[in-house]
Amino acid sequence: MRVVITGGAGFIGSHLASACLEKGMEVSIIDNLSTGSMDNIRYLQNDPRLQKRLSVTIDTILNPLTMAELIGSADMVFHLAAAVGVRYILENPLESIKTNIQGTEMVLNLCSRFNKKVLIASSSEVYGKHLHAPLVETDNIIYGPSTKSRWSYAASKLMDEFTALAYHSTKGLQVVITRLFNTVGPRQTGAYGMVIPRFVEQALKDLPVTVYGDGTQTRTFTFVDDVVRALIELMKHEKAVGEIFNVGGTKEISIQDLACKIIEKTNSKSAIEKIPYEKAFKKDFEDMQRRVPSVDKLKSFIGFEPKTDLEIILSEIIDNMKACLLT
Ligand code: UDP
Repeated sequence: MRVVITGGAGFIGSHLASACLEKGMEVSIIDNLSTGSMDNIRYLQNDPRLQKRLSVTIDTILNPLTMAELIGSADMVFHLAAAVGVRYILENPLESIKTNIQGTEMVLNLCSRFNKKVLIASSSEVYGKHLHAPLVETDNIIYGPSTKSRWSYAASKLMDEFTALAYHSTKGLQVVITRLFNTVGPRQTGAYGMVIPRFVEQALKDLPVTVYGDGTQTRTFTFVDDVVRALIELMKHEKAVGEIFNVGGTKEISIQDLACKIIEKTNSKSAIEKIPYEKAFKKDFEDMQRRVPSVDKLKSFIGFEPKTDLEIILSEIIDNMKACLLT
């Protein structure tokens, strides 16, 4: 079994590559290293047990020749390459839209042409600014105006879902769509805005922990190993084809409480610094107040839900970050 992982040098992609290799699969990674890094996959390339079954292509998913070669010789495709991170998307709006819309169209088109099964990594962002919980896959969506560029990410991911479903209904493409909710774990970088690696790094360095807004906004965090397991199981499930699944943890925590927990767990001398959104992000910015998934559908298809406890998740991330800061 050969799988292509687009975005395989990214945070989630590299964990997925590792799990697929451990299961005996051959893995072809394509990544343009825009937010991914060779550091994420070097341990796989250096592992004598795994390296023979791993190939890495540094290129954009918008290159049709490279993509045709990779997808043509694979059995299935995990499409994870995307512009990610709120900060990155606000700073690179055009590139983000192109990568997400044209890149996904390229992947779907080639999977359809070569008749390959594909999983599309969509995002909880597609729900927009709902306040109710839990969010169900069939819920309506609520976006702000197109002058607020955060929503371009949500809209581009939504367009990916529409395109995937259209390929499924008109061309019979075998596609599975997953909406990932705040996936976290070792090797995630805070450079593109993600809250947990930012808070952990700030706390370990005894720097102010930067809570945006009043800190009452909440999230549920999902451990990357749980996500990877769910993605692999969904790809194995025949009835998951043509379906959309939330993949996320269900335990809600406010960003203020998260900051306190991280300071405590790291024995940090850091204080919390509240930063108004207009200072944190230069442009007109809108945050999401709440984002909690229903995972009933996921559970009914694959028999489990992501539920690694936040305490365990944070311990893993803190240990990994400590080791990185020492090297
Ligand atoms: N956040 C924060 N301080 C930071 C980074 C993020 O308070 O240094 C907040 C952010 O405003 C949001 C939450 O943490 O309310 C989660 O942010 P992240 O970018 O990780 O994910 P997303 O907004 O996509 O859920």
